[in-house]
Amino acid sequence: MGRTADAPPPGAAAGPPGRRSLLRGLALGAGGAVLGGAGGIAGGRLMAEDEVPASAASVDSWEPPERQVDIVWSVDTAARLVALTFDDGPLPKWTPMALDVLDEARIPATFFMVGSRLAAHAGLVRGRLGRHEVGNHTWRHDDLSRLSRAAGYRTVHRTHAAIAAVTGREPVLLRPPWGRMGGTTVHVAAQHGYDIALWSLLVQDRALHRDPQRMIDDVVQRARPGTVLLAHDVGQASRLEAVRRLPAMIAGLRGRGFSFVTLSELRRAAARSGGRAAPAAP
Ligand SMILES: [Zn+2]
Repeated sequence: MGRTADAPPPGAAAGPPGRRSLLRGLALGAGGAVLGGAGGIAGGRLMAEDEVPASAASVDSWEPPERQVDIVWSVDTAARLVALTFDDGPLPKWTPMALDVLDEARIPATFFMVGSRLAAHAGLVRGRLGRHEVGNHTWRHDDLSRLSRAAGYRTVHRTHAAIAAVTGREPVLLRPPWGRMGGTTVHVAAQHGYDIALWSLLVQDRALHRDPQRMIDDVVQRARPGTVLLAHDVGQASRLEAVRRLPAMIAGLRGRGFSFVTLSELRRAAARSGGRAAPAAP
């Protein structure tokens, strides 16, 4: 993201960068555009005109999103609550396994679902999501930072409709795939009334997955009040170890006095308790 702030944004007027233009450049940087320039080459592929993210196309076409969008990594709270989240499902292999563990432990989680997978495998989750929250993870695990506003809208909107149809509830959170927030991601979130949900602690740490017990111990020790845990119910072997070890992780966190809530409930709990926990003593 820093790269964009260093170079004049495409379409910027020539001349010495005053404070105002620097701020506008930073605003574009926050959009995360990683385009090579006005030509719109991203990832080595030439993008069609209408694929260029609107917020990066030129400084003149940049406009703020239509409403405030919060970006949540973790939540400031003194309450010993954490939110367990699962990305990329549902697929037949592990999603039922994760749901079984959560049912057994009677804890809620938040599933960021890929719309096309939900449409194809609705039967896996239908009727099983009562205590859980479902968020939007785009239609095909799309990189929103590289899509036009129209294409970003379509992938998010289609997924929104699929979630609403299967769960009977409207999702309120978007987790952009890979956590990439560039391009028109924030604008598309705003259009849907979403806030953006990231995470603060990755469960299947790649450095530790060969030692699954250590991986789980590490998560249990690093969790704090308000932590948002990221696990996956789809993917590679390291992720499967994390799903297999969920009961141990849940038990470990409970042993440290943590309770589990959905991400939206975590945010509401923090708002009720007045937010920020006292900083820990050095
Ligand atoms: Zn994902």
